[in-house]
Amino acid sequence: MTSTPILKRVKAAASPNIAMPTYKILGFIGDGIGVEIVPEAVKVLDAAGEAYGFEVEHLGPYECGAHYWVRQQMKRGWPEEVTKELFYEADAIYKGPTGLPDLVGRLPGPYLPLNMRLDLDLYANIRPCRLRPGVESVLRGREPGDIDFIVLRENTEHMYVGIGGTLRRGGEKEMAIDNYVQTRKGCERIIRFGFDLARDGDYKGRPGAPRDGKRRLTCACKWGLCKGDDLFKEIYDGLVAEYPEVEPDSTWIDSWSYYALMRPDFYDVVVMPNQYGDIMSDMSGAVQGSLGLAGSVNAGDRYCFAEATHGSAPDIAGRGVSNPTSMILSVGMMLNWLGEKKGDPRLKEAWRGIDKAVDKVLAARKVRTPDLGGSSSTKQFGAAVAEVVKKGA
Ligand code: NAD
Repeated sequence: MTSTPILKRVKAAASPNIAMPTYKILGFIGDGIGVEIVPEAVKVLDAAGEAYGFEVEHLGPYECGAHYWVRQQMKRGWPEEVTKELFYEADAIYKGPTGLPDLVGRLPGPYLPLNMRLDLDLYANIRPCRLRPGVESVLRGREPGDIDFIVLRENTEHMYVGIGGTLRRGGEKEMAIDNYVQTRKGCERIIRFGFDLARDGDYKGRPGAPRDGKRRLTCACKWGLCKGDDLFKEIYDGLVAEYPEVEPDSTWIDSWSYYALMRPDFYDVVVMPNQYGDIMSDMSGAVQGSLGLAGSVNAGDRYCFAEATHGSAPDIAGRGVSNPTSMILSVGMMLNWLGEKKGDPRLKEAWRGIDKAVDKVLAARKVRTPDLGGSSSTKQFGAAVAEVVKKGA
């Protein structure tokens, strides 16, 4: 079966006098609420192109994910036209959440022809946690501006390398082993990425920690107990002297889960190994008021793909009430990454514009999805943000 891109889109109108760059953006819809939130992010992406003067050549968005895999009798994870080359050709990629709980563990990897995070070497998963205007945190007494940190998750090592196996005896699964791997290269590049992020203040509302404005990189792991985390911490300690502009800080990951709730304003950028980052960034979804606000990008030196921090939310899928902010912010962050890579300030401005537009709509408290206590639909929220972006937030 061939599959055509699902959404119809309007191209940004070119001004005859200004050279308008075109960027190829490859997109995937995913499962569950992916069908609802991805179209809203695409709407906002097109609005940003119009407002900030670039054109998006859309590759897709295509179907993918657990539902697609099942429909293809568990043989294909993608439409035929989605080749490996397409990934390498695209300037950037976005993907809606994939996975359905009944199929967890039964499908190969993320059901994709290449495991994007590893094959594209997307080693840095940037997951901002910011309390935005008009939103209540689950933490008592915290105001917008009090919380603005980034969970920086290493994305290619640790517990998710897939090196392990099971022992079956007499038809019974008797033992299972997962190997947890950390390498010098993997630790060093993510920690350097963290220092750079803290120094530059990129992807944040404001550089530095809200409490004291200090640019700070916190190293959070379980050194002293796990060999891989000993290496992570040793490499962190060895790099501190190279970044005098950034205040060093270290905490065991279990303590960090406490401190992040007790003094979230102290944190600026927090770097951690893969699985810890996976868990802590869901917690930071609650800290910022809803997982539906949690955007993220998986970034490497050459490729980037945007995806929300959360999953396919089967409990609310199909009702049109999911919060598309996570996907909208993810696509915005993707533009920021691309702007840096291409040296195109329009894309960086577009990211800021999208970010501010989200704040404006949330602050007005008129259009809000149910996770934030409102009754607006996914589409209404997406349309409101796109409208503000078009006007140049
Ligand atoms: P989930 O993140 O999908 O949902 C957790 C809770 O957050 C649910 O109550 C959900 O309704 C809520 N939520 C999530 N996104 C929301 C949004 N945009 N607006 C409003 N509420 C939102 O976690 P889960 O239910 O444990 O996982 C569901 C499936 O997603 C599983 O199959 C899992 O494997 C998969 N998953 C995929 C990714 C990914 O594609 N990157 C990440 C995590 C989980």
